Amino acid sequence: MKRISILGATGSIGQSTVDLIARAPEAYAVEAMTGGRNIALLAQDARRLGARIAVTAHDDLLDDLRAALAGSGVEAAAGRAALLEAAARPVDWVMSAIVGSAGLEPGLAAVDTGATLALANKESLVTAGPILLDHGRRAGATILPVDSEHSGIFQALRGEDMASVERVIITASGGPFRDRSREDLASVTVEEALQHPSWSMGQRITIDSASMFNKAMEMIETKEFFGIEAERIEAVIHPQSIIHALVGHCDGGMIAHMGAPDMRHAIGYALHWPERRDLPVERLDLVALGALSFAKACPKRFRALGLARQVMDQGGLSGAVFNAAKERALDHFLAGRASFLQMDDLVAGALDRMMGREGFDRVEMTLETVSHADQVTRQAVDDMI
Ligand code: NDP
Ligand code: MG
Repeated sequence: MKRISILGATGSIGQSTVDLIARAPEAYAVEAMTGGRNIALLAQDARRLGARIAVTAHDDLLDDLRAALAGSGVEAAAGRAALLEAAARPVDWVMSAIVGSAGLEPGLAAVDTGATLALANKESLVTAGPILLDHGRRAGATILPVDSEHSGIFQALRGEDMASVERVIITASGGPFRDRSREDLASVTVEEALQHPSWSMGQRITIDSASMFNKAMEMIETKEFFGIEAERIEAVIHPQSIIHALVGHCDGGMIAHMGAPDMRHAIGYALHWPERRDLPVERLDLVALGALSFAKACPKRFRALGLARQVMDQGGLSGAVFNAAKERALDHFLAGRASFLQMDDLVAGALDRMMGREGFDRVEMTLETVSHADQVTRQAVDDMI
């Protein structure tokens, strides 16, 4: 039996993970499942999978969680400390699927136990990639990518020599606004930004896909996870979302990773790695697909991509600043306080201010400085609004 925990079990990635586990309950012993505000779903799935403990991140929801778990034998806990304690419980495999920089410390707690970390929380790599990887090395933990592009790169690299890798290309669907000009984007609404053409995901990452901040995060994630130089990392628009990533070698050969846009492939790959097992994912019908197309992801049109280049060049705390500014700008867009395009301005402004005037470019990266940069950047974005 594989002992597992699921952090962010009530989210989109968490639910796809629950789905895979629920299909083979005899193969897994579930230790901890964590969630946020969705107590009913957390309790229902913790009962269904027979988890030892269910944790909500919110102290004020402890009584609700206790009531929802009454008679189930599942322990209930609440709050940040309980979340970190649950993440640090010894298991074989942990899904890191909390959204935002709130997922960094729970992921670190899991990695410190030496468990295999299936990493969906890309914010951990963008804000503190070197710290996460260093913790992984020290603890002898394995970190496996779950983001579809990075799972694709990881799979395409199997058995290959990194020294022969010339470039890595990740694809972007282009989101719902692919065919709109920048001027047309000025007035788009939250509802429009939530209409993703190919993937079904959580609310925040869906809007990040429309604004291209998701792809910007993924370029940084590629650099951090695989240790590939920024100049070798590209993003292209690929509306069908069938090819997720390509690795180009020095002999001109390219290995592409293809598959239906269903996160259960990448989650299941990380769950069964190094083996491959049957997964409930649609098989591609190439003839029905007919054609796959590609277009340039223009950094003038999608400013987030240019900002990602800036972060990859600058390194240090710029990733933490970039992520915090993006998260806070998104809060303001969702609340109707910022327009869609203003998110670009807020992130660019925060990077200039923090990495320039505030001198964060000279501060060494530690967990404390990352956390400090995150807090003051959020405040700076609020000040700019
Ligand atoms: P969702 O918003 O669907 O789910 C987020 C999860 O985190 C929920 O369980 C939520 O609880 C919980 N949560 C929210 N805030 C906190 C907090 N402060 N502390 C603890 N837990 C919290 O997100 P997704 O599943 O879409 O994404 C999860 C991560 O995976 C993100 O980092 C995302 O970038 C990444 N990812 C997602 C993909 C996708 O297809 N969805 C693809 C690739 C990467 P609750 O809902 O109960 O409040
Ligand atoms: Mg992705």
